[in-house]
Amino acid sequence: MEGNAGKRVVVIGAVIVGASLAYHLAGKCANVILVEAEGIASGVTGSSFAWINISHSGPDPIAQLRSAATQDYRRLQTELPGLKVRWTGSLSYSASLDRVLQASGNQPSATLVSRLQILGLEPNLKNPPQHALYEAEEGALDAVEATHALIAGAQNHSAKVLTHTRVLGFSTQNAKVTGVETVTGIIDADIVVLAAGTGITKLTEKLKMPLPIGASAAILIRYKTQPNLVNTIISSPQMEVRQSTDGTLLAAEDYLGDSLENQPVEIALRTARRTQANSCRWHPHHRLSTRHRRSVRLRNASWRHSGGDCGPSCQRGNSRQQGILCP
Ligand SMILES: Cc1cc2nc3c(=O)[nH]c(=O)nc-3n(C[C@H](O)[C@H](O)[C@H](O)COP(=O)(O)OP(=O)(O)OC[C@H]3O[C@@H](n4cnc5c(N)ncnc54)[C@H](O)[C@@H]3O)c2cc1C
Repeated sequence: MEGNAGKRVVVIGAVIVGASLAYHLAGKCANVILVEAEGIASGVTGSSFAWINISHSGPDPIAQLRSAATQDYRRLQTELPGLKVRWTGSLSYSASLDRVLQASGNQPSATLVSRLQILGLEPNLKNPPQHALYEAEEGALDAVEATHALIAGAQNHSAKVLTHTRVLGFSTQNAKVTGVETVTGIIDADIVVLAAGTGITKLTEKLKMPLPIGASAAILIRYKTQPNLVNTIISSPQMEVRQSTDGTLLAAEDYLGDSLENQPVEIALRTARRTQANSCRWHPHHRLSTRHRRSVRLRNASWRHSGGDCGPSCQRGNSRQQGILCP
């Protein structure tokens, strides 16, 4: 980012990645314009489980990036008062101790904890496993709140934000991008940064530069329940849950298709039953049943990046293990 002082930079996409780029570039004295097709934070970020994780169950080609992102979030917390990360740590476990031990080989920074220690961290667990991996350095945030904090920070450094302004194409000269075409006209730029989430491929097609990135759907479920049910981020074959500061229990699930039994509400009910049966002491009056569906807020399936080579602005996601929300 060095050497961009005074340059006109257009960043396409005003959500977590674009907001962060705008903040950091504007902080280096670039003249930043953030261009967003919809409103601020309207992308997939609003449906994110938003776990900042350094752990990964297999060999991890982006381990360094994960670790750098975690440190960057700690820095950002000191720079932006509106950006709050809850560094709760995470507990991961599998059905067999062998698998936990195998995973621990890939996660040198994680501590192997016993059942008693697990109960100390999560007293509401009904059936704690014998062992789990505890990663103290991990946390989660409200990604929409963080986006707004980054954009406010960028604006403090004189960045401009244009919402409801879709980028339709690019202006070029001698095979060099010189600006973006929007519904309201052309914006000239020295540098154009694509932070358009899964919309990025449509944009690169306009430049005849296909990107090998796909999208996989995932579901975020929000349950209204009693506070202080879950302290850490729990990841097991049965569930991936955490609780936000307002008490909302968040669960991330894979999208399994359009069939009736895999509609988001059905998945939410199944996840709730699994969570109740396998671990948490869900308060009876918040027990989820078809009668209480109104207590569940669902995001319909949202699309996140998958596959392709991962760079700082992309997300490698498989079924449960997330990548990093790059700051
Ligand atoms: C259920 C679920 C759980 C997840 N959990 C995690 C997790 O725990 N940890 C993690 O790190 N990641 C997680 N992810 C992935 C993570 O949320 C995303 O990788 C991240 O939010 C992507 O942010 P973004 O800014 O790149 O894209 P987006 O949030 O999608 O923003 C892109 C923006 O670009 C705009 N745009 C697109 N095209 C144009 C255009 N032509 N002109 C102008 N604007 C345009 C869009 O309107 C949008 O607002 C999860 C995703 C899902 C769905």
